[in-house]
Amino acid sequence: MFFSKMLIPTLREAPSVADIISAKLMIRAGMIRKLASGVYEFLPLGLKVLRKIENIIRQEMNAAGGQEVIFPLILPKDLWLETDRWNVYGKELFRLKDRKDAEFCLAPTAEEAVTDMVRKDIKSYKQLPIILYQFGTKFRDEIRPRFGVMRSREFLMKDAYSFHIDEADLDKCYKIMFDAYTNICLRCGFKFRTVEAVSGAIGGSFSHEFMVLADTGEEEIAWCSCGYGANSEKAECLKIEQSKEGALTAEVVFTPNVGAVADVAKFLNLSPEKFIKTMIYIVDKKPVAVLVRGDHEINEIKLQTLLGTNEVTLADEQTIVSVTNAPIGFAGPAGLKNTKIIADLSVIEVSNAVAGANKKDCHVKNINYKRDYNADIVADIRKIMHGDACPRCKKEELRFSRGIEIGHTFKLGTKYSKSMNATYLDTNGKENFIIMGCYGIGVTRILAAAIEQSHDDNGIIWPDNIAPFEVIIVPLNYTNGKTKEITEKIYKELFSKGLDVLIDDRDERAGIKFKDADLIGIPYRITIGEKNLAEGNVELKARRGGKDDVKILSPEETVNELLRIFKK
Ligand code: ATP
Ligand code: MG
Repeated sequence: MFFSKMLIPTLREAPSVADIISAKLMIRAGMIRKLASGVYEFLPLGLKVLRKIENIIRQEMNAAGGQEVIFPLILPKDLWLETDRWNVYGKELFRLKDRKDAEFCLAPTAEEAVTDMVRKDIKSYKQLPIILYQFGTKFRDEIRPRFGVMRSREFLMKDAYSFHIDEADLDKCYKIMFDAYTNICLRCGFKFRTVEAVSGAIGGSFSHEFMVLADTGEEEIAWCSCGYGANSEKAECLKIEQSKEGALTAEVVFTPNVGAVADVAKFLNLSPEKFIKTMIYIVDKKPVAVLVRGDHEINEIKLQTLLGTNEVTLADEQTIVSVTNAPIGFAGPAGLKNTKIIADLSVIEVSNAVAGANKKDCHVKNINYKRDYNADIVADIRKIMHGDACPRCKKEELRFSRGIEIGHTFKLGTKYSKSMNATYLDTNGKENFIIMGCYGIGVTRILAAAIEQSHDDNGIIWPDNIAPFEVIIVPLNYTNGKTKEITEKIYKELFSKGLDVLIDDRDERAGIKFKDADLIGIPYRITIGEKNLAEGNVELKARRGGKDDVKILSPEETVNELLRIFKK
């Protein structure tokens, strides 16, 4: 392929709207263009990378026993009403009407569609297990589209779904898919971690995220050298024991105009660890008091999971006043009536604690669990923080890194088969709900994540397996007969062995050609200039290597070296 013939509109500067290095470089390298907020076009170079990633994923899915299908992008409302996700999905769902006013959505995911396919054609245990997957455009009206194709409103995802007769069979398949995802990450050249995750809107009981490590990642990962890893919103917090003191007499103290824990702690000269933070939430239209230690934060996602709800919201001022009989800042568990109390594991460990007294400008000192207050539920409901111990080995402190979630695997159980009545007949002729798993990976996000993890000041540095071209040949003067002959000879030999090679045949200065080669990130560059050619040589340079990391080789040696590197 000739550079001059291909649409690679490189730019010296990125537009100021590009808000992350990968988006800047993809635009500068002429891979993508923005059409609207969170909506991007892919140019030939971008699409080449996308197809390479797709091929790796397809190979791994086929090896795992998957069968490729295509689901429609326009999905009927009725299907989404069956699972109630028409209502639950909220504003992220793009909705539309046809000319007869029938309602549809643009697919954000395909659990309903695949479950419908399976319930129509799978009847017996003999047809299970089965894994179906697709590469499909997904539409999500993200609240904050950003970071180029990393969080866009239209993106390419590979989504796979597995169907089983029982949990044990799902477990087996989950392991196979988990390994396939691990292979995909390895083949894409990622430094990554697999972590336990919250299932979110997709549902189900158990899930893992595949996180590409990058400082710009939107997610925080908590991990330990023992092997434990979790999205920090999911990371388990152990109960923190405190040395027990003899219970003192509870007493109300006057704390005029100081409500926040940090201020009261200062005022009373006590550490925040001695405090009970009491927050009033609204859950299913009812107030609930939630208690954590003064130095801890409530994890609303854990709270939602614990209460089996999709939404918990902080109560408004009026509700707080009516529940506590006091202005905001003075809520506490002692004497709180007609409100469910949920306490964190560590807060009930605090002896002689300080809490709001449910009275204006007053706190109460020396309150103790069971003697002065009770809780309806005691559970892990706080956010993990620096200094917390690993919940698995219980020895080391957890470490924290930032990551980009590129894949997510879930055990769904019967969430969809129950609501959509997808059943099979077992060996006794008895009808059972099919057990499901689902496995998503963001193809477009992988592309951006690869650049986040692998670039320098000059541009992208593609991992070998997903580079748009493996080699770029830069003839310094393509009109020179000998230069042209050697360029074409090397091209043909590499091409015939299956390597993707780009020839920069443009009539441009060497500096411009080198800059573009670095910007678009081709892993190997062969420079053909008259000076080296006079000695019968060309120059081979790895994009990953330093400025002076070049080899002067004969054309034959160059071809052999590249075939060795790419194992051809
Ligand atoms: P996130 O938490 O980042 O919003 P999600 O949990 O909504 O992701 P899933 O529904 O599990 O994502 O989708 C599977 C994969 O699809 C994700 O791991 C990610 O790679 C990709 N993906 C999800 N949303 C987007 C988006 N808006 N733009 C690009 N890729 C996305
Ligand atoms: Mg999302």
